[in-house]
Amino acid sequence: MSIYDTYETIIGLEVHVQLATKSKAFCADDTTFGGAPNTHVSVVSLGHPGTLPKMNKKQVEFAVRLGLALNCEINPRNTFDRKNYFYADLPKGYQITQDASPICLGGSFEIKLGEEKKTIRLHHIHMEEDAGKLIHDIAPNHSLIDLNRAGVPLLEIVTEPDFRSAEEVDVFMTAMRQLVRYLEVSDGNMEEGSLRCDCNVSVRKKGDTQLNERCEIKNMNSMRYARQAIKFEQKRQIDLMEKGERVAQNTLNFDPATGTTSPLRQKEDAHDYRYFPEPDLCSIHLSEEYLANIKNNLPPLPNELYEKFTGKYGLSEYDAENLTESLDFALYFEKLSESTKNYKTSANWMLNTVKSSLNDGGMHIKKFPITPKRLGELIILVSEGKINRQAATQQLFPLMMETPDL
Ligand code: ADP
Ligand code: MG
Repeated sequence: MSIYDTYETIIGLEVHVQLATKSKAFCADDTTFGGAPNTHVSVVSLGHPGTLPKMNKKQVEFAVRLGLALNCEINPRNTFDRKNYFYADLPKGYQITQDASPICLGGSFEIKLGEEKKTIRLHHIHMEEDAGKLIHDIAPNHSLIDLNRAGVPLLEIVTEPDFRSAEEVDVFMTAMRQLVRYLEVSDGNMEEGSLRCDCNVSVRKKGDTQLNERCEIKNMNSMRYARQAIKFEQKRQIDLMEKGERVAQNTLNFDPATGTTSPLRQKEDAHDYRYFPEPDLCSIHLSEEYLANIKNNLPPLPNELYEKFTGKYGLSEYDAENLTESLDFALYFEKLSESTKNYKTSANWMLNTVKSSLNDGGMHIKKFPITPKRLGELIILVSEGKINRQAATQQLFPLMMETPDL
């Protein structure tokens, strides 16, 4: 047994979800990704003196949607705070966030680890605004700044330190991406930074119960890199402890080129930010009707559909996994299952014939020309032996694709 096996890794995440609102959190600037630098800005997002923030209703609605889907308690009276720090990507000199009284409290998210299920507890979810983007690798002697992202609405999901491996983090983030897409609160694109996380990592001897000092690896928006970074950090911290040295509580940057972490800055404590109540925004009051209305309009969630497909429909975990990848695909299958109860056969049609024709045409299931009812009729004809399967998939199906109204 190696010395590394006598330790366990403890990880807690701070997940940032960029919301799919049309305008920013506190002003009407466009939030579309990829605009020419500094074109989606205004006096508010540039932090000009005398300008005032105005709350975006959609941000609140999206926060509640996600909170309800994650079993959080919704805080009916929540407030904003200022988090002060002086950095070029933050023109106001402070970030508007929620510290003392965030919109969602507690909560949990169940992840699948092979045959096992594990519940990750959430500490809270709060609303905040994003900062701009500093670019250091274009001009040799200058840093450039793009403020298009300054003020874009975010949710931050803070988990309890419940993860024990990089793989668990990967599974959680992948499931979170699927969830935010189902809820249509974010596009979930990690490459564009719409979903990213800070990983807090510490190690301790197996059997110990107290938590040791942690390091925080900032802004992971690739799960491959997050896995590498956590594994590197795990080994680095164990090596330090084995030498009898202390792990300094730092904020770290991960460099994909070298696969190593390096200190970005010393970890700030809450008092460094001089949090105080945001005087320019009033508190948010959420009525019971408002919450009930959002709750009643939630779509079916990935795990509910998964349970239904493996349970009631008797499908394999593999089929259920693939059928529930996106909400629209799963809903098409649900409609199809209204016409034919031969779930396994329908699943095969969906995952083979339908999926490959979508892939070939680069088409979204929403644009798929054959209705679930018509596809159901075709499947029934095959199962009753009226047409053979090969003729159905190779001749009739392509014909129906071309002439869906026939
Ligand atoms: P801060 O506000 O200083 O960033 P928090 O207590 O709010 O600290 O925790 C932030 C994140 O760090 C949470 O996701 C939490 O689960 C995680 N965390 C806290 N302590 C540890 C630890 N010892 N090891 C690993 N993760 C930790
Ligand atoms: Mg933190």
